[in-house]
Amino acid sequence: MELKNCKRCGKLHYGTGRVCSDCMKKEEEKFLLVKSYLKENPDSSLIKVSEETGVTVPEIEKFLRDGRLEVTTGMSDYLKCMKCGSPIKTGKYCADCEKKVMNDVKTVYRSVASGEIKTQKGGPKMHTDFGRK
Ligand SMILES: [Zn+2]
Ligand SMILES: [Zn+2]
Repeated sequence: MELKNCKRCGKLHYGTGRVCSDCMKKEEEKFLLVKSYLKENPDSSLIKVSEETGVTVPEIEKFLRDGRLEVTTGMSDYLKCMKCGSPIKTGKYCADCEKKVMNDVKTVYRSVASGEIKTQKGGPKMHTDFGRK
């Protein structure tokens, strides 16, 4: 095991995660707090949830983006697809973009593996016949 700085509190820790076990425990407690609050108060807005549970909005958003929580009726329009902006319930992308992103990732991996990507200028397959008319 290697010694790492906790991404949250900066404490040195031996571990596999990005945060130390203390922070992991705290994060888990917050998660459960938000989760049980939402179960009982699905109509609460995100701000309200944050105020009532003491968990900050970015932290709650992280739970949503990580796919651990789903938006409830009170915050139905809060979470947007990071690619096309349509409302989603959990995660980072809507189903359509998720598929596209997965394909992109696969394509990139394949290209890297086969050594196709040398320069990233302008992305793959740009038209090269500009101004040749
Ligand atoms: Zn920590
Ligand atoms: Zn989308």
